[in-house]
Amino acid sequence: MMKAVTTFVALLVLGFGTAAAQAQAPDAVLVNGKVVTLDDTSTVAQAIAIRGGRIQAVGSSDEIRKLAGTATTVVDLGGRTVIPGLMDSHIHAIRAGLTYSVEVSWIGVPSLAKGLERIRDAARSSKPDQWIKVGGGWTDMQFTEKRGPTMDEIKAAAPGRKVYVQRLYNRAWLTPEGIAAMGITKDTPIPTGKAELDASGNLTGEFTGSNPAYNFLVAKIPGPTFQDQVEGTKAYFRELNRLGMTAVNDVTGGGLFPVHFQPVQKVWRDGELTVRVAWHFQPQIRGKEFELIQQHTAMLPMGFGDDMFRFQGLGESITAAMFDGSTVGAVFNPTDADLAEFEKILTWAAGRGYKAHVHASTNKAAAGIMTVYESIHKKTPIDKLRWQITHIEDATDDTLKRMKALNIGWSVQDRLLYAGTNYQKLMGEAQTKRAPPIKTGLKLGLVVAAGTDSDQVAPYNPLTSLKWLLDGKGIDGTPLRGPEETPNREEALRMYTINAAWFTFDEDKRGNLVPGKYADLAVLSADYMTVPVDQVGDITSHLTLVGGKAVYADGPYKALEGKL
Ligand SMILES: [Zn+2]
Repeated sequence: MMKAVTTFVALLVLGFGTAAAQAQAPDAVLVNGKVVTLDDTSTVAQAIAIRGGRIQAVGSSDEIRKLAGTATTVVDLGGRTVIPGLMDSHIHAIRAGLTYSVEVSWIGVPSLAKGLERIRDAARSSKPDQWIKVGGGWTDMQFTEKRGPTMDEIKAAAPGRKVYVQRLYNRAWLTPEGIAAMGITKDTPIPTGKAELDASGNLTGEFTGSNPAYNFLVAKIPGPTFQDQVEGTKAYFRELNRLGMTAVNDVTGGGLFPVHFQPVQKVWRDGELTVRVAWHFQPQIRGKEFELIQQHTAMLPMGFGDDMFRFQGLGESITAAMFDGSTVGAVFNPTDADLAEFEKILTWAAGRGYKAHVHASTNKAAAGIMTVYESIHKKTPIDKLRWQITHIEDATDDTLKRMKALNIGWSVQDRLLYAGTNYQKLMGEAQTKRAPPIKTGLKLGLVVAAGTDSDQVAPYNPLTSLKWLLDGKGIDGTPLRGPEETPNREEALRMYTINAAWFTFDEDKRGNLVPGKYADLAVLSADYMTVPVDQVGDITSHLTLVGGKAVYADGPYKALEGKL
């Protein structure tokens, strides 16, 4: 548990001397707060000193004030809570950034009426021939109406317009103008999905299926321009900063080709990246995976890049045949040849020291993946490579123990925030109570990290996700996960910070507020440690620092934006 102590810890660097004290004064000190350091003894301090982008000292307000020189910026925290910057250990952030400036978002919108209003606004503010697209990341249950739109409502919101609306990865609506522009007829094959027909056999505009069906449709919508993608990336990352986020473990995927990395690379090269990005490569053509991986990673040693933007290995889908679909009703049926191909690619990856970050919605898939990992490990040890399996809402103790034995990390996401009630119908109440078995994983000694799997299957808000970690409820308030599998506040926060840092080999550089580490932190609008759980999701950051720089500042700290 947290203990409130004010131990003074300063970083001793060779060459520090008393004569040089003024020269070594911090660039900034944050005093008079509640600093949740998440160090090894769960120290809660009052103040923090920052120098050269790193934490110089942590301690009481008096101790830290004494370090300040004439040029030191002093920030009064006014009793506010400071936490290490939040890190999503499994998110499609690069993809979300590409369209953020041009898409209509229904993520977190409280009612269908408001969602339709956003389509009406987009129709008014855009050119008549421009597409209006609502991506995934929303569910019926978040709306007060408890239902999705009808085709007629969408048509009425944007008469005569090309509109595409996607709900998670389970349904899409397309207006007649959109259908015509895509050139789809009732005979067009929809990969893994189908177009619904009315009684007279005509297209209704509604489509069902799993991920490839929607990727197929979305690929027919002309993308935003390069400049739109650059602006969208910056705006999206700033939105993450507003929510206290400072790093992502990104898993590209779903329709992202190498060319789509150029906008985020531009933002990085321009020094305008405000979230640390560790990214993976995922091949996009079924049956050609190994060829594409070898081709596109030939010049990419593991860890290539810097602490802002770094290549992290392969994932989350390494071969299409091993992908078991999203959340509910996932199917895992690879042939022996599929398993052999997967093993061949991952053996090659292990030989290069690459990380594998692999998707498994079901325990069946995770167990199948572990069999391959174990086989590889006999020839090429992988227990130092921190491979990752992600999701596994129904993970069994046996699978988690097998993962622990090979030092495989497990990242969990709040996908059941949206999909939980459907999951409960399919899997039953007892199974849902332990979905996912977070406490079991922690007790077994696995590194368990948190995240969202945004942008299509859950909202990106880390505070919403932390709330879900703490109460296990669906978006409509239905209790789903039980108290047995519910982490406490500090455990949940560690899953979103220091544990997440482990996955990208960064736990010695960031993830908690300890001298020598990067000054990546957030000053919160409310005290995460004590506010009622149902208010955790409403918390935002007033001041977010990445490497000591204020990448987001509002309210009392507005003037600090871009500084420190
Ligand atoms: Zn996934």
